Amino acid sequence: MDVMSRQTDDGKHEGFVTAWFPDGMLGTGFTGNTVFARMPCTDGRKLHDYDRGEEVERPDSEVAGWQPVCECGWRGSLWRRVATEAEQDLTVYRAYSRDSLSDDFDEMLMVEWEQHIAPATAVHEVALITAEIRDAEQRRVEAVTRARAAGASWEAIAQAANITRQSAHERWSKITR
Ligand SMILES: [Zn+2]
Repeated sequence: MDVMSRQTDDGKHEGFVTAWFPDGMLGTGFTGNTVFARMPCTDGRKLHDYDRGEEVERPDSEVAGWQPVCECGWRGSLWRRVATEAEQDLTVYRAYSRDSLSDDFDEMLMVEWEQHIAPATAVHEVALITAEIRDAEQRRVEAVTRARAAGASWEAIAQAANITRQSAHERWSKITR
């Protein structure tokens, strides 16, 4: 299974589930039963700017848990790995996985990341809509200019814009010639 990752539209957040080792190493990927791991940096820089030693290969059996993480430095709840399926208790973040995470398990851990990015996603949407409004406003000014050039009255333009004649005149008489 590939390491699944997700990225926000503004590129500021990229989330993925990483293997966690008791000594602090985090997984960067895996193949078969081999997990690639590194110490993450701890000075607040992006999680993936690893600088504390080389990447090492570790057996999957040493993975002691999993954690949703984000490139911005955010780290979610640590899910401790238990030895048997009977010990699994998802309500207290104790999870069983024989080897690599299943897609369902990955989805479950990423719910927390989705909540982490929800404010940024909504704020980004506000920015996108604001840009659309600015563009639309510019196109409206151009249309008003064409309307005036074609001989339309301020009365007619005001009616089309759903504002008073006076408002239309104040808003556009100086910028449309
Ligand atoms: Zn983030």
